[in-house]
Amino acid sequence: MSFASLGLSAPILDAVTAQGYTSPSPIQAKAIPAVLEGRDVMAAAQTGTGKTAGFTLPILEQLSRGQRAGPNQVRALVLTPTRELAAQVADSVATYGKNLPLSSSVVFGGVKINPQMMKLRRGVDVLVATPGRLLDLYSQNAVRFKHLEVLVLDEADRMLDMGFIHDIKKILAVLPKERQTLMFSATFSKEIRALAKGLVRNPVEISVSPPNTTVKSVEQLVHPVDKAKKAGLLIELINENDWQQGLVFTRTKHGANKLTRQLEAANIKAAAIHGNKSQGARTKALANFKKGSIRILVATDIAARGLDIDQLPQVVNFDLPNVPEDYVHRIGRTGRAGATGHAISLVSADEAKQLFDIERLIGNQLTRKLVDGFEPVHDVPASRPGQKSHGARKPKKPKPGHRDGQRSGDAASGHKPPGKNRRHGRGKNPTGRPSGDRTR
Ligand code: AMP
Repeated sequence: MSFASLGLSAPILDAVTAQGYTSPSPIQAKAIPAVLEGRDVMAAAQTGTGKTAGFTLPILEQLSRGQRAGPNQVRALVLTPTRELAAQVADSVATYGKNLPLSSSVVFGGVKINPQMMKLRRGVDVLVATPGRLLDLYSQNAVRFKHLEVLVLDEADRMLDMGFIHDIKKILAVLPKERQTLMFSATFSKEIRALAKGLVRNPVEISVSPPNTTVKSVEQLVHPVDKAKKAGLLIELINENDWQQGLVFTRTKHGANKLTRQLEAANIKAAAIHGNKSQGARTKALANFKKGSIRILVATDIAARGLDIDQLPQVVNFDLPNVPEDYVHRIGRTGRAGATGHAISLVSADEAKQLFDIERLIGNQLTRKLVDGFEPVHDVPASRPGQKSHGARKPKKPKPGHRDGQRSGDAASGHKPPGKNRRHGRGKNPTGRPSGDRTR
């Protein structure tokens, strides 16, 4: 099958060819015609499937046929959970739309709002946004949705995981009811279906399998170790196994910084990527990691979301996540096509509860392996996956001061994930007032 047969016109086909794509991926083959027909879409697809082009190409095609956006108006809105993903989607929009007379822009928190307001002044055909910053801009009258034609929710499951449901509902309340809605999510859980209910109308449902089936092709191992010896063990593992590229997860930003310093001190090129890092620093770290000048990327869960770095040979859980589902997300990063990925967890005695919760979620007891010289003084108890463990399936708020759990760590410091800024912030809550009047 060719892109031309899907109904895309020459300027877009040229841009696609310039990217070196020869044929549409399965999700593109299904989503592009459906979107061009004006249908709502619910698609189960992960990063790596080509989903971004799956919605971007037909949206650009449709927008190119209509009238350009008026001042402060937006014609297509793409909501993403993280600034990284927002930036990546915006890049794709610019790349695929380079031969079209359409404008696009991206807005997310953590950077100055004024330049974003300026860009919106003349109106943009495609706006990519994280929810919180978008609400800030809306409350300051910088953006209007009267002429919105298409809404895309990208990685809807992650948006819910990250607690954006209220922000999303506020945004939905100010969008025109007559619009096309496309929803992309890695999974379609009960929560996602509930959200979708009032959102998409008679949608075309599309499901494609991820390029690498995660859990099955990932070899998972637990190294019990005392907390104080974790960094030493990680350094030993990197050196012994000569890992050239690995993604290491820590629970906190502080932990990521500290570990990065320890790796650098051991002559291992490393960089941290988390909510306190500027967009520039994150982009640079990712680029250096991809080209190999950094061997180890140390990331918090939230920062790692939306990063275009799957299929790594090695993922390490330096700390176990508080939310067991995050473990599954993390290890899904490893496993190259056709090859087995490796996910190693360094687990100290105080993380037994998290370990049990993970084992209960995945329905498997993880293999423990002691490493010579790093045998723990404080043993990790044997797992009890059958035992009821409270909250295993429910993301819970870490207690204040509890080794600043990733979520609260990011949220408490003033360097929150995009979109959370506004909760304590400057902007007025747009739906603090009757919302309906704002779109009419
Ligand atoms: P995504 O799932 O949207 O994050 O895309 C994953 C990667 O696949 C991106 O690097 C795209 O540039 C690339 N890609 C998207 N569509 C195609 C295609 N039809 N052929 C080859 N590569 C593609």
